[in-house]
Amino acid sequence: MKKVAIIGAGISGLFFANILRQDSNYEITIYEKSNLINLEKGYGIQLSVNSVKLLNKIGFQNLNLAHKFNPKKIDFYSLLKKNKICDLDISNFNTEEAKYTTMQRSILVEFLKEKLPSNLMQYNKIVSKINSTTENIELTFEDQSSVRCDYLIASDGIFSSTKSLILNRDIKPKYFKSIAIRGTINKKDLNSIDFSNISLFLGSNFHSVLYPVNKDNTLNFIGILRKNLSKDQLEDYSLFDDKNFLSSILSNLSNQIDQNILNNLKNIKCFPIFTSQEIYKPKQKNIFLIGDAFFAFPPTFAQGASQSIEAAFKLYESLKNANDEFINQRAERTKMINKKSKFNYFAFHLSNPFMTFTRDLIMRQLVKNKKFIESYLGEIYKN
Ligand SMILES: Cc1cc2nc3c(=O)[nH]c(=O)nc-3n(C[C@H](O)[C@H](O)[C@H](O)COP(=O)(O)OP(=O)(O)OC[C@H]3O[C@@H](n4cnc5c(N)ncnc54)[C@H](O)[C@@H]3O)c2cc1C
Repeated sequence: MKKVAIIGAGISGLFFANILRQDSNYEITIYEKSNLINLEKGYGIQLSVNSVKLLNKIGFQNLNLAHKFNPKKIDFYSLLKKNKICDLDISNFNTEEAKYTTMQRSILVEFLKEKLPSNLMQYNKIVSKINSTTENIELTFEDQSSVRCDYLIASDGIFSSTKSLILNRDIKPKYFKSIAIRGTINKKDLNSIDFSNISLFLGSNFHSVLYPVNKDNTLNFIGILRKNLSKDQLEDYSLFDDKNFLSSILSNLSNQIDQNILNNLKNIKCFPIFTSQEIYKPKQKNIFLIGDAFFAFPPTFAQGASQSIEAAFKLYESLKNANDEFINQRAERTKMINKKSKFNYFAFHLSNPFMTFTRDLIMRQLVKNKKFIESYLGEIYKN
């Protein structure tokens, strides 16, 4: 029986454990640095059909329907002109079994966690040293305990310290010169949007997204604002909890977002966005990176979690079929999605009136162009 150590109990690590458990040849342990899995309520997540199809392999289709929402379209609005630009039918990629889904992030994580026996999880564990040979790997943790395993899977997120240990140098993600503002809002505080769809508002150096997370009345709000921050500001962890900083960001947005939305946003949180700069390939054949530890995308294609799930599944297939296709396949797909996410960011944040006029005109044509949609979205949604 092969021993597998998974570092980090986020969406990628938990999904990988779930899918690998279906093969009795593996003995799995997840090592998580926190003393629990964060199930904070309130925030949403979008899952495109490529990941829903894979989640169904571990029973996602049986999750209570009340916890899931299936938007039909993305409605694009201009914040500057206060009009609707166009809509894009994302349900075209749905199948009977796998539909584009929005939900509470905590429900997804709970679903992934609940399916695993509790003895698979070890909390308060941070790897401090890795000794690896082609045969096996020895992990030493900060609490001085150690284990041997045959495979090491680093799924410890964007700030993965395990990645630095594996690659033997300090690897840090890059500030994406943008901050995210998350919150929730009640349907009654919104007017003139279609609650059966995802609403995407394009502003100047800013875009925001509103979508239902279940069949209740609460919608998830996420705004992405282009913002330069100094090194000191980025190193000051308390800045993003500071009420004055948040107020200044919100007042900055008050000339773009409807006052009604700003006044009624609840559970507001603000944080800097970091993305990966490079794709790293561990030299060892028995060590792998998945999820944000492998590569963190800009959040403008809503693919972070979906790609974390996809990568975990591809790794499972690669181990099962004893091939080494994983890394090159993932590298290519990652580059393609990263490029499209960056392009979306550029298009969503235009501020020049001539550029936005042209963009809106082009968008109206493109959403009707089946060939374009099939290529732009299909390349990602059909895995
Ligand atoms: C603003 C924003 C909006 C987003 N919206 C979406 C969306 O709508 N749809 C979508 O698909 N994606 C979205 N994403 C991206 C998505 O959230 C991430 O890509 C995804 O959560 C990555 O999962 P992960 O398991 O790789 O990492 P994480 O979820 O970060 O999990 C890492 C885990 O490892 C643990 N850990 C960290 N360090 C260590 C260590 N040294 N040792 C042990 N454990 C450790 C952590 O405690 C955590 O439990 C969004 C991201 C942002 C920034």
